[in-house]
Amino acid sequence: MGLSTKNGISLYTVDGFCEDGRAGHCFTTRYGGVSGDSGRLLNMSFTKEPDKPANVIENVRRVAAACGFDCSRVTTALQVHGDNIVRVTEEIAGARFSKPETEIVADGLITDIPGVVLMTTHGDCLPVYLYDAKGAIGLVHSGWRGAVERIAGKAVARMAQEFGTDPGNITAALGPCICGDCFIVDPPVAELFEDAFPDVGIMKDAGFSGKYTVDLERAVRIALIEGGVPEDNIFISGECTAAPQNAEIYFSHRREKGTNQGLMGAFMWLETAPPWE
Ligand SMILES: [Zn+2]
Repeated sequence: MGLSTKNGISLYTVDGFCEDGRAGHCFTTRYGGVSGDSGRLLNMSFTKEPDKPANVIENVRRVAAACGFDCSRVTTALQVHGDNIVRVTEEIAGARFSKPETEIVADGLITDIPGVVLMTTHGDCLPVYLYDAKGAIGLVHSGWRGAVERIAGKAVARMAQEFGTDPGNITAALGPCICGDCFIVDPPVAELFEDAFPDVGIMKDAGFSGKYTVDLERAVRIALIEGGVPEDNIFISGECTAAPQNAEIYFSHRREKGTNQGLMGAFMWLETAPPWE
């Protein structure tokens, strides 16, 4: 599908992923909401508008209407660039939305409850969608710290532990994120990647000022494959959030030098309960 527009909102979906219709996923874009100075931005982050949570709730309501999910079931966590994975149970479903008093601290969410909508927020960091056709899903926010920590592989292991998921049956999608050309880092970060993923050329000399580039998407792919996800089951968007030509589509922490007035949301949900024929 790539980008498709409904009710004035463009949503990105990863081609080939979850085409059995039992689970839904999307990644939001820049416009179609009520946020920012323009009043048109589709910001998905409470942190970006701490004094206007109603804006974020309205923006999420619009995404829910376009996707057909129940916005009272949207569940999100306070993201801290760590490697904590939380299983979303009925008790905490709706955290930060219909249960504003419930706070989860995590960069990965998993669930097996149909209708619960997992949500993470992104401003260049990679969204990882995980789908077990036996009836479980996961959603991970993997920035560079998460990539070094292999949080995507840890989410796969946690699905195995909690739901009996066979990693070999997982399909994964890597959504839009900063690409391996745009993600320019200083030597200490590059060295962390080289130590975490040795001898695969994960970092490259950027060719100026002693800087390096790092391929976040490739690091996450490696973590998933090491975690037992078959290489052929990993779908990649290839979309770069930080590229200048995508400035009208995505927010980018890097391109906008941290002055971005919003973040994108990644959403994933199980449509119906198994057992499926
Ligand atoms: Zn790029």
